[in-house]
Amino acid sequence: MAEVLVYVDHVDGAVRKPTLELLTLARRIGEPVAVALGAGAEATAAVLAEHGAVKVLTADAPEFTEYLVVPKVDALQAAYDAVSPAAVLVPSSAEGKEIAARLAVRIGSGIITDAIDLEAGDEGPVATQAAFAASFTTKSRVSKGTPVITVKPNSAPVEAAAAAGTVEALAVTFGALATGTKVTSRTPRESTGRPELTEAAIVVSGGRGVNGAENFGIIEELADSLGAAVGASRAAVDAGWYPHTNQVGQTGKSVSPQLYIASGISGAIQHRAGMQTSKTIVAINKDAEAPIFDLVDYGVVGDLFEVVPQLTGEIKAR
Ligand code: FAD
Repeated sequence: MAEVLVYVDHVDGAVRKPTLELLTLARRIGEPVAVALGAGAEATAAVLAEHGAVKVLTADAPEFTEYLVVPKVDALQAAYDAVSPAAVLVPSSAEGKEIAARLAVRIGSGIITDAIDLEAGDEGPVATQAAFAASFTTKSRVSKGTPVITVKPNSAPVEAAAAAGTVEALAVTFGALATGTKVTSRTPRESTGRPELTEAAIVVSGGRGVNGAENFGIIEELADSLGAAVGASRAAVDAGWYPHTNQVGQTGKSVSPQLYIASGISGAIQHRAGMQTSKTIVAINKDAEAPIFDLVDYGVVGDLFEVVPQLTGEIKAR
């Protein structure tokens, strides 16, 4: 069976969920070989093996943290050269997309970014992408070289599948560009205790209808009752009610959770661009004509200041 390289996103050995989702997709098209880099790379092996990785290639070097993405591209290319895979899958984070793009250029391959599904095809893996603010889905395949595909979080379930997960050290030679851009400082974001927006299974978002930073507390309470992340429309962010890091949409983050709850959000095309691929969409809006109701699975016409606390109360009572 053809081998499929999977780039591992992890924090000190703790594998992030989008990588486990990639393993599910990789198993549809071949045998996953994981590439884990940096501090804790070897510690990722057990969980990767539990999710189908037949092999885990690891490398650690100060270059991975001291410089921007190029050392990681050098390492992924070393893995590519060693394995000659049928495809390379990378999580669709900002860093993942840059790594994938640079690798594709180096190996002369086509690239597909932000896939939301992946299946085996006669002429190579076929990726599904959402287009035109997710009004359409398209299917495509790479027709030149080895497909390099980035996949959005929440595009596939995490599935257990025991495999060998044999750990092998990857020999990496860094090129001249690797040390071109040095990281001068890192500022960890203050933790809210909530899941990362792009990876969360549930997102509760608030818009202009929330009417003030002080009122976002009811959105956060509903989010916390569901173990959800909090999102915001651009109107709410521009008004200074919620941080830009939580903006959902064309100029914010793109989310694809199992459940998206939009409160006081009208459903402008630029907002839809970031959430329309959510599996189930619920909207709470006092205007029955709001465009968001065109795309919801469940809509509540009502005042969010009455509906949201009631919903939180119901959920907490269960
Ligand atoms: P509004 O459109 O003002 O809607 C507020 C809604 O709240 C209304 O439907 C109203 O009926 C409802 N409401 C009011 N009070 C209550 C209440 N008490 N209870 C229930 N409902 C209530 N927008 C984004 O969100 N993300 C983006 O990334 C983004 N990028 C953009 C990029 C460009 C280039 C441009 C031009 C625009 C972009 N926008 C983006 C802005 C977008 O066009 C909309 O202006 C924005 O999404 C509107 O936010 P909203 O739905 O919160 O506000």
